[in-house]
Amino acid sequence: MNAQSPRIRLFVMDVDGTLTDGTITYTADGLELKSFHARDGAGIKFLPLANITPAIVSGRASAATQRRAAELGIETVVEGVADKLPVVDRLRRERNLTWEEVAFIGDDLTDIPPMRSAGFSAAPADAAPEVRSIATYVCSLGGGRGAVREAIENLLRAQGAWDQVLDGLGVGA
Ligand SMILES: [Mg+2]
Repeated sequence: MNAQSPRIRLFVMDVDGTLTDGTITYTADGLELKSFHARDGAGIKFLPLANITPAIVSGRASAATQRRAAELGIETVVEGVADKLPVVDRLRRERNLTWEEVAFIGDDLTDIPPMRSAGFSAAPADAAPEVRSIATYVCSLGGGRGAVREAIENLLRAQGAWDQVLDGLGVGA
């Protein structure tokens, strides 16, 4: 990405291994537990301040994901997706965006096709090696440990939107 790149307008996230550390815990009564990171959540809330829409495209359907998305105001959540590229392409076309205006962060092999197409892609530090090797940006933090926040901050700085976000939060210089 450089200064000439179109600005990202849609930021699509994988869930397991990206917004979480990949652990899926089942309780005795059948509930599914996932752990999310507070700073990832805060970072996702920065996106609208820079006119970027957050979205989730996940391979698995989970009540925990739906609850986290609702808490963070993520309106676009597509779950149970085996083939992510056509789904992200649909979200892109619905918004009249070019692929250059789409960002995708993911950790595993099914994330590679949308990452290759996107104008900006990121991988957590502990993503699969094949994913790290094609990502625009490889995070120093792992999935569920602040990688999404790191990627968002990197993206916003690269687009010159970080100061705008700080001003929006009332913590600008
Ligand atoms: Mg994943």
